[in-house]
Amino acid sequence: MRTSDTIVALSTPPGRSGIGVIRLSGPEALDHTRVLLRKPEFSPESHRASLKTLHDPERGEAIDQALVTYFKSPNSFTGEDVVELSCHGSPVLLLNVIDVLLSLGARAADAGEFTLRALSNGRLNLTEAEAIRDLIDAQTHAAARQAARQLGGELSAQLQPFKNLLLEIIVPLESALEFVEDDLPDVALTKLRLQLEDLIQSLESLAHTFGTGRLLKDGLKVTLVGRPNVGKSSVFNSLLVQDRAIVTALPGTTRDSLSEVLNIEGVPVLLTDTAGIRTAEDPIERLGIERTRQAIADSDIVVAVIDGSLPLTEQDDSLLAELPEGNYVIALNKSDLKYFDHTKLYEVCQRAEPVRISAKTGHGLNVLRHAILAPFERGQRSDSNFLITNARHFDLLRRAANSLRNSQTVIDEGATDDLILVGLYDSLRFLDEITGETTPEDVLSQIFATFCIGK
Ligand code: GDP
Repeated sequence: MRTSDTIVALSTPPGRSGIGVIRLSGPEALDHTRVLLRKPEFSPESHRASLKTLHDPERGEAIDQALVTYFKSPNSFTGEDVVELSCHGSPVLLLNVIDVLLSLGARAADAGEFTLRALSNGRLNLTEAEAIRDLIDAQTHAAARQAARQLGGELSAQLQPFKNLLLEIIVPLESALEFVEDDLPDVALTKLRLQLEDLIQSLESLAHTFGTGRLLKDGLKVTLVGRPNVGKSSVFNSLLVQDRAIVTALPGTTRDSLSEVLNIEGVPVLLTDTAGIRTAEDPIERLGIERTRQAIADSDIVVAVIDGSLPLTEQDDSLLAELPEGNYVIALNKSDLKYFDHTKLYEVCQRAEPVRISAKTGHGLNVLRHAILAPFERGQRSDSNFLITNARHFDLLRRAANSLRNSQTVIDEGATDDLILVGLYDSLRFLDEITGETTPEDVLSQIFATFCIGK
């Protein structure tokens, strides 16, 4: 696909900075630059930066000195002619340069349009394009590392053996159906069924890493609940002091003063303190039961804070009754004070032993951190520790596996053999959809490669 218009955008964040980079892509990128430089003869070498003065073409006055880098098509990020202008990072100046480029006929780029063009021009495949987005959005080093692995083509590499295996099944099956009059013998069908089973298992186990991958990408939602004065805000603050993430918003979450993003061992954790969602006036609302329930329902894990220096109250009991199956941690706070014997509580919590902590001294906070990460650590990993982090990939992997199950059903029901192929081709198509390529030619060329010359 060739696009006729030239797009422009500020590629660095808006605001004051040392430099701000404006990117142009399209057939007129160089022409527009020439006007901006007032140098019609400007013919830069590709991939070489040069320091130039930018001018306002109408008034003729200099507006900035910028480092101009030209990337000649097709050896650029988008595959088109690209010019990057590294200007001084003044928002006023950058807007001015962009306005000039728009007046020359460039069009303001849509979100992701540079990457879309890279995809259309075959510079990237779909998973690599998605990885660029994930890399930019990554909240922690671990999430960034995962995106970088995907950008490096690791997902495509993980899928390739599955596609090869499918082709190894499809090709002889196609040939057999083409040239053999009878249906396949039972031994062949039994072998085929086993081959499919292996493939299904592998696809499903890769798909299941999404449970963990999702948490790495979108973050783990953790909520602190408990009756007033047990120390929720204190726990919230002491975790925050050490673990606050550099970035403060997770995708899909609205940020308010009660929620902060932490970085616990590379996993982004959105920690919410329900203490502040009580309003003092309304006696029912004061307990915040309804809102606490909602917060619990939205969480991956709930930390129930209990004052470990006091006996359990009725409020503690009713809170404990609300806790979701499995996904909770009980934190017995104020371990620095005289300890109240909570044997009864220990009996109740057979699955999750209470963690003794002190928000005041920091005692036990590491154990609490580990308990918070439990759903992440329980999750399934692939052999290479590669995780599926994208719902689209997860869905397609599952569909690819289900299509193979359909082929198995065809075998089991003894239907005609060419129906087996339907599921196999569907499965291949779903795998190809992940990387955004559909390659019926691959199948054809491999099929014909198995033929004799002259046939
Ligand atoms: P919240 O209402 O559950 O958010 O509780 P706060 O965090 O406001 O704490 C209530 C009171 O308990 C405050 O006076 C805190 O200083 C105190 N507190 C909180 N955590 C601890 C702790 O670990 N040890 C001691 N001794 N006091 C604590």
